[in-house]
Amino acid sequence: MRDGLVRVVLKAVARSLGAFELGVTRWWLSRRGDPRYRLTGSCNGCGKCCEQPSIQAGVLLWRLPMLRAATLWWQRVVNGFELVETDPRFRLFVFRCSHYDPVTKRCDSYESRPLMCRDYPMNLTFEAVPPLFPECSHGVVDRNAAQLRAALIAAGVEGEKLKEAEARLFLTEPPKDPP
Ligand code: SF4
Ligand code: SF4
Repeated sequence: MRDGLVRVVLKAVARSLGAFELGVTRWWLSRRGDPRYRLTGSCNGCGKCCEQPSIQAGVLLWRLPMLRAATLWWQRVVNGFELVETDPRFRLFVFRCSHYDPVTKRCDSYESRPLMCRDYPMNLTFEAVPPLFPECSHGVVDRNAAQLRAALIAAGVEGEKLKEAEARLFLTEPPKDPP
């Protein structure tokens, strides 16, 4: 259901606070050289990332029942995220988003979507192995791709083996769009 005024305002406040926290965290991570990858490409609107939005919880959020209940309440009532499953291996909450239309693959409240939706898939550039969906038209390239490729070549890796290593290590630039 499309967001009304109250949800629009609540989500805007949450986004501002979240953006501040995220900015500080990313600034801190940048001091140690993160993210490892650069995001390439643009969104083709496949909708895959809206099918099962998920949140990885910190230890406190995962373990403290009241904090967990409050967070899930907020996700359900404000963000429209219904919890469908949890994955304790990764402390993951997996949701169904009530704003997503699987037929049109569109968000009915795109302008007020939460920060996590706006940050996707940039957040994946901070992962060791970014789990992009096969349908996603974005890609990632290691920021040190040129040096890593040169090191592989200097070590005698060539031909198909080189191509394999480039794909596995995210060293391949996407093809340029035709002019
Ligand atoms: S709020 Fe919108 S952008 Fe975010 S998961 Fe739902 S449909 Fe996708
Ligand atoms: S999975 Fe990638 S291409 Fe598809 S909607 Fe999400 S960001 Fe866009």
